[in-house]
Amino acid sequence: MRLSRFALATTKQTPADAEIISHQLMLRAGMIRRLAAGLYTWSPLGMRVLRKVENIIREEMDAAGALEVLMPAVQPAELWRESGRWEAMGDLMLKMDDRLGREYCFGPTHEEVITDFAKRDIASYKQLPVNFYQIQTKFRDEIRPRFGLMRAREFIMKDAYSFHMDQADLDREYHGMRAAYTRILDRMGLDYRIVAADSGAIGGAKSEEFHVLAHSGEDELAVSESGAYAANIEAAVTRAPAGERPAPGGELRKVDTPGVATIADLCRALDLPAEATAKAIVVAGDDDRPVLLVLRGDHSLNDIKAEGIDGIASPLRFAEEAVIREHFGAGPGSLGPVHLSLRVIADHALEKTADMAVGANYDGAHFVNFNWGRDAPEPEFADLRNAVAGDPAPDGSPLAVLRGIEVGHVFQLGDKYSRALELTVLDENGAAVTPQMGCYGFGVSRIVAAAIEQCFDDAGICWPTAIAPFELVIVPIKADKSERVRDACDTLYAECRAAGIDVALDDRGLRPGPMFADAELIGIPHRIVVSERGLDAGTLEYKGRRDAESRQIGHGLDAIREA
Ligand code: ATP
Ligand code: MG
Ligand code: MG
Ligand code: MG
Repeated sequence: MRLSRFALATTKQTPADAEIISHQLMLRAGMIRRLAAGLYTWSPLGMRVLRKVENIIREEMDAAGALEVLMPAVQPAELWRESGRWEAMGDLMLKMDDRLGREYCFGPTHEEVITDFAKRDIASYKQLPVNFYQIQTKFRDEIRPRFGLMRAREFIMKDAYSFHMDQADLDREYHGMRAAYTRILDRMGLDYRIVAADSGAIGGAKSEEFHVLAHSGEDELAVSESGAYAANIEAAVTRAPAGERPAPGGELRKVDTPGVATIADLCRALDLPAEATAKAIVVAGDDDRPVLLVLRGDHSLNDIKAEGIDGIASPLRFAEEAVIREHFGAGPGSLGPVHLSLRVIADHALEKTADMAVGANYDGAHFVNFNWGRDAPEPEFADLRNAVAGDPAPDGSPLAVLRGIEVGHVFQLGDKYSRALELTVLDENGAAVTPQMGCYGFGVSRIVAAAIEQCFDDAGICWPTAIAPFELVIVPIKADKSERVRDACDTLYAECRAAGIDVALDDRGLRPGPMFADAELIGIPHRIVVSERGLDAGTLEYKGRRDAESRQIGHGLDAIREA
């Protein structure tokens, strides 16, 4: 690519509204431009990265035997009524009517549609197992779209859905998909963890998430040093009932709950100091819509239950831990006199009907696990006290809490959707069987942002080569004054292209400084500088994106390859 024709649009200024580094750098590099809240246009530069990500995912899905399809983004309401999710999805789903008044949504996910598709074409056990996938645009009306593509409203997902005659075959495919995700992330060169997860609104039994590790990650992961135990804190803490799940801290202590009606009672039940009753912090909603509330000790848990979180206390719309700490004047590891904070993670789908669950505090010392809601008459408390403050994992190895960005999620759905939508196939004996299903989501656009969170420095993005917009940039010095430099660059550029190197030639005629700065900002892994001086000496100047200094290498393709 000749950069003079590439519509690069970099800026030096850090955009004021971008909170995290990936969002800042994607805007500064000109990879994306905002249209409206949670809606972004991908520029030619951004597209090159997105396409590389898609290709890796596509190659690994194909290699794992999954079959690519493309489903409509717009989906009829009837299907969602059949599965019972038309109402359950709540405001997350963007709903619309057509000219005849028929109801539709812009798909936030595709379990219903794929099950309907399977129903039309799959009739016999001979057609199973099968795994269909697509790379497609989803819309989720996230309450707080933020961080650019990290939590967008319109985003690109790779979603796959598999169908099986029995659980054993579903297990096999699930592990195959897990392995494919592992290869995808390995090829992208990212540091990640696979953790036990909560199945949330999608439902189903077993589920695991793939998290790219980053300080800005919205999720907290409890990971044992031995690697034997790893869980999203959401799952580590919410999986009720206590005692039936692997306790990160070994032992779960149930707190007797009959007397617990207020935050103050809760503090007492947990043996927390009395001052704790002064304030309790509740982050309401789910990860997508954190609303910070400060509750007084006399606020009743039942009030919350009856009126909803928004009904009581003054919502302080702070979501960031840093803001919480600032607000209460306490540093990491302590919230000063505030000894109790409840972090309520309520899945949007469940929020109104039943289970509002889970408390975990910010200082990591006390964990509260309870369910409340219309279907849960008695709140249940389990104290995972000290769980994350070093207590060992079940195998005795110490636990650490890491922050991660969820980029992939694999689920065993069982027959939830096949049963609801009445999908059956005939087995060898001609008997109708309801297939077992798995589903496997991957955040195609999110991983672009997640990769930047892990790969950047003061000058900009440091792409892993596999997903860099270009592998190599050729920078001519004073090309306007030297035909020799121009010719050498053109020749080298042509040679690189012929050799299959994804190369950019910076022929914009800028001074070296701005060209170097752009190459670093947009994160091209390798840079070659061509100058009169180098040509005299028969050398090229090479610099790897993360190298401190440039060095001279021989002229020609082999030398570049070696470098
Ligand atoms: P999160 O917990 O971050 O809200 P999720 O659990 O709701 O994600 P899934 O339903 O598991 O998401 O969807 C599969 C994948 O789609 C996620 O692992 C994530 O990579 C991606 N994804 C989900 N929501 C968004 C979003 N708002 N913007 C970008 N990517 C998203
Ligand atoms: Mg979500
Ligand atoms: Mg999640
Ligand atoms: Mg998920």
